Amino acid sequence: MDDLTTGKRNKRGDWVPNAPLATSPLFRLPPQLAKLPGWLPSYFLPWNVLFMVTAAVFWTWFFPDVAVMAEWQWGWVVQILALNLIAATLFYSALEVPLYLKRRQANRFKYNGKFPGDAPNPAFWFGRQNAEGILRSLGTGVPIWTGFQCLIGWSAANGYGLTLTFAENPVYLLALGFCVPIWHEFHFYCVHRLIHTPLLYKYVHSVHHHSVNPSPWSSLSMHPVEHLLYFSSCLIHLVIPSNPIIALYGLHYAGFGAVVGHIGFDKIELTKTRGLDTHAYTHYLHHKYFEVNYGDGLMPLDRLFGSWHDGTAAGDAAMEVRFKAKVARANRT
Ligand SMILES: [Zn+2]
Ligand SMILES: [Zn+2]
Repeated sequence: MDDLTTGKRNKRGDWVPNAPLATSPLFRLPPQLAKLPGWLPSYFLPWNVLFMVTAAVFWTWFFPDVAVMAEWQWGWVVQILALNLIAATLFYSALEVPLYLKRRQANRFKYNGKFPGDAPNPAFWFGRQNAEGILRSLGTGVPIWTGFQCLIGWSAANGYGLTLTFAENPVYLLALGFCVPIWHEFHFYCVHRLIHTPLLYKYVHSVHHHSVNPSPWSSLSMHPVEHLLYFSSCLIHLVIPSNPIIALYGLHYAGFGAVVGHIGFDKIELTKTRGLDTHAYTHYLHHKYFEVNYGDGLMPLDRLFGSWHDGTAAGDAAMEVRFKAKVARANRT
């Protein structure tokens, strides 16, 4: 595909999309109802539908029987952990291997012209971004993700919340499913602002920000405290009327969906003329500039709190103004 029809490449080889980033029409004021039908397909496809399906399939066919999960036992916990380790490895590798190892589409649609594997980087374990990403993701990320999934299974088995069925409450549960990414965005934004406070940034979140040029295995390359905070979004399903598949969808959205923001390419080429939009540019800019785009733009939270960067020169200028004001404030104190 020709990536220069929808973007441009600078001297360093970095590709930038022509269209400025926009927040979803769902939350714009005044309401932009006419734009909703055009936007909804991109909300559902392909990622949200994929994670809804994986949640339903995992819960129905790969999780232990609900009765088994009523009591904590290593057997079923290890079963879910093994399932998640295999699934995460397959899904993350399905993007990392063709795009970063085989470089199937070279640097077409790639935001950062360089590949992180080209040169060792002492910021990472063994000098390799990939090695640290894999070890942190599989070493603490997936086990903590699994812990929350087991908590959902154990709670459902004991009737501690999660009691609604699709047969009795289809409309409510479908509406709740629709809101899962919105809740994730709100929770992620709040947690993310929290871990950008100086102490938590220094000891916790800086681990994730070592990846200035992220790739799929950077997604869960986090300190375990950040894993705990990040996946805690699912706890809401224990206090509101909900269903375990919807709660698991929230966790799949967080665990598998994290990859989408770290792909590093604007489009994954499927054929010579067709590609899959990743919507990864918003979070890529966060990794590049640190203090912009704490959310993914589904809700206008960054606009509201003055940290939105739409990827344009105007976004750069606004960021520069904020940065200078911050330095001036720091110098006054
Ligand atoms: Zn990130
Ligand atoms: Zn951050």
